[in-house]
Amino acid sequence: SSFGFRDVDAREKVQLVRGVFDSVASNYDLMNDLMSGGVHRLWKDAAAAKLNPRPGERILDVAGGTGDMARRYAKMARRAQQRLGGADARVIVLDYNAEMIMAGVHKGGEPEMTWTVGDAMALPLPDASVDAYSISFGIRNVADIPQALREARRVLKPGGRFLCLEFSRPTAEPIRKAYDLWSFNAIPAIGGWVAKDRDSYQYLVESIRRFPDQNTFKAMIEDAGFSRVTVTNLSGGVAAIHHGWAL
Ligand code: SAM
Repeated sequence: SSFGFRDVDAREKVQLVRGVFDSVASNYDLMNDLMSGGVHRLWKDAAAAKLNPRPGERILDVAGGTGDMARRYAKMARRAQQRLGGADARVIVLDYNAEMIMAGVHKGGEPEMTWTVGDAMALPLPDASVDAYSISFGIRNVADIPQALREARRVLKPGGRFLCLEFSRPTAEPIRKAYDLWSFNAIPAIGGWVAKDRDSYQYLVESIRRFPDQNTFKAMIEDAGFSRVTVTNLSGGVAAIHHGWAL
């Protein structure tokens, strides 16, 4: 070609690209399962149940990655729709990493789902345009958390729900001890062996330490203008669901 690259047959190119996204998505899933002992699936189920998606709703899943939460929301809204009737729900997966989005598309969506590349700190959506906002294991990585929370408040309709699933602080001493051993030793080691990337997993553990505890984060959500904010601890506070209302 004129750019000096060897010409790749279109079909071959599709195969190459698929291979990359396949391995991104499956590595990501495998690491989540190894590091949490599969428990992240139960946490996600609990968070989806808490969000309680309804027929006809417009639900935004920010930092949605490969779409784990969005798939749950779409299926739950459809199940409710089969019982109650009403319009189809719409679930928007938004992530600033196009590779994660592509991996999610490759993994497969539900008919209610659409995929968007965008930033949690500057959402490409109008004011008061969604019924529910969710962010799962994403807010910890956002550079300006108060700004992301203000954006969540802005795009929610009056009466809309905010939900965040994130690592938090184990509440009981024995759990805290076991968790420290696991996270400081096992997680970087597994990251080194499986993902060949010890440093990234070391960073992951440190970012969890730096993230505010349950009550501090609850206060930040309230500062962004949310009401009736509640905390649900999961696995003794290893993770937590924060839920609030845009009233
Ligand atoms: N929500 C998915 C889940 O629970 O499996 C993915 C979580 S993954 C650990 C974190 C995701 O946050 C990544 O896909 C990353 O690209 C995304 N992310 C980080 N900062 C972001 C930002 N400012 N805006 C949008 N996405 C962001």
